[in-house]
This record gives sequence, C-alpha cells and structure tokens, in this order.
Amino acid sequence: MNLDNELARIAKEEVDVVIAKSVGVVLALTGKAMRKSVCLIALLVLNSMSPLTSGFDLGKQEIIDLSHAYNKDTIYWPTSPSKFSLKQLAYGPTEAGFFYSANTFATPEHGGTHIDAPIHFHAGGQTVDQIPLEQLILPGIVIDVTNKTMQDRNYRLTREDVLMFEAAHGQITAGSAVLLRTGWGKYWPDVKKYLGDDTPGDASKLKFPSFGEGAVRLLVEERKVALIGLDTASIDYGPSKDFIVHRVAAEHNIPGIENLANLDKLPATGFILIALPIKIEGGSGGPVRVVALVPLVNSGG
Ligand SMILES: [Zn+2]
Repeated sequence: MNLDNELARIAKEEVDVVIAKSVGVVLALTGKAMRKSVCLIALLVLNSMSPLTSGFDLGKQEIIDLSHAYNKDTIYWPTSPSKFSLKQLAYGPTEAGFFYSANTFATPEHGGTHIDAPIHFHAGGQTVDQIPLEQLILPGIVIDVTNKTMQDRNYRLTREDVLMFEAAHGQITAGSAVLLRTGWGKYWPDVKKYLGDDTPGDASKLKFPSFGEGAVRLLVEERKVALIGLDTASIDYGPSKDFIVHRVAAEHNIPGIENLANLDKLPATGFILIALPIKIEGGSGGPVRVVALVPLVNSGG
C-alpha cells in the first residue's frame, strides 16, 4: 500500500490528518471515513512504531550460541557424584509405520553451561525458577582478560580491571550482564587443561581464572549489574576455598553463569544476552541455553 496515496484519498473524504514529527502519524477521523480507515490506522500505528523498535529487528542481529552441548564429555565439578547421561527409550519405525524417537536424560544441576541461582550460596536466595526474567534477558558487556590469564592461570579480575574497561567503554549500566572472557573456552572439554587438574573426586588442586572479590563488589554493590558469567567452571577462581564471589553475588540475588562458550565472538558492548535456564522448581541452578544478539554492522550506512 502506498501511504501517500492512501492519505491523499482519505483526506478527500473529509478526514483530518496530522503528522506528528516524533511519534509518527496521528489521525483524527470524521464522518463516513471512520469505518474504512480502521485498517489504515493499524498500518499507520505499526509504521510509526518501527523507528522505536528497530533496535530489536531480528533480521539485523547475528545470533551467537554461548552454550556448550551436553554429552559424555561435559565437564562437572570434580566432586560431582554423577555426570550427564542420556538413555535411549525409542528410536526407529513403530508398528504403525511412522518413525519415533525419545530419550531420558539426567544431570546434576551444576555442570556444563549452567546457571547458579542465588540460593546456591545464600540461604533464602532465589531458586532458579524465581530468578526474574529481567535478569535473564538483558544488555551485556564482555571484559577481556585473556592477556592476563596467559601469564597467570589463577588470575582474578580486579576492581582496577573493571575501571580500566569503563575508561575505554563508559560506565557499566545498572541491570546489565557482565561476562568475563578468560580464553578458557578453547580448552573445553579437556578437563586437565580446563580445570588445571583431573584427579577424580579431588577439587583441591584446581587452577583456572575467574572474578575477584574487589571486582564483584564493584559490579554488584556499586554498578548494580543483574548477572555475571564467564568461560571457566566457577565464578570463583580454581584455588578458592571461601567462594567469596559466589557469596557476594548470591547475597545480592545476582545469578552467575559458568562454562560459557564462544565469548571470543562477542563485541565488548552493545549486545543482548538471553540466558534461559531449565525451570526446576526449588532448584539451586541448572543447564542454561545462552545466546547473544549482536547487531550486524551495516557497512553500507
Ligand atoms: Zn554452578
């Protein structure tokens, strides 16, 4: 439909048309044209909304998968009593002549790409089903410390690192997701490289980088971020015994996502994170499919 022609036609039928600069098009209708124009009004309303919603045009976003697949190689904490299991219940043609397949699966809550609900380290904290959706669908940023972790595999993000990021990219806004890129994703699923030790049942010799207390206090208490996450097995570094980052985040009802994939494919700022965990009522965490919507760069302008 040609909008100008339609507007001209309706104007002839004694309709006043007011074009509002900022919002779009507002129609004041009189007389017989009222009924005829209902469809056109709907069109105009949609038309006037598009500039406001263009940031969420899926056709202009690249969708990046930030989850590892669950399989026999999925990494769990060394003390986990079990790992991921998938058992086939059916696979093949039925007597009725059609194909049918189904499996049953089992997994501890904390393994693979998963979320820690606040109750994981704070009595009375939110369970995984209680995490507000606003904390799971939100703008994200990535702080890259790969140059530091190459020198020290037990590196912890510092308050100064966060301030340096802000000096380059602007202050981190309240309600955002802060992802830490250590470069550890490239080691998945090699347990020895990823965790720093592969002794079954022993979590005392782990070596991998993560957040530090000063950084998480700045992010959670001052910047009021809504979610943290990273590409190693824990939001506390490998040697941690007090799990202070888990405790600080949990007591502020901030969930943490562990074992993220593909953080090297994200820009530092300007993307939307969608991280929807399995909705286990009362759960302390669980598997989460994480994706990022990254605006495609329009080279043509
Ligand atoms: Zn966990």
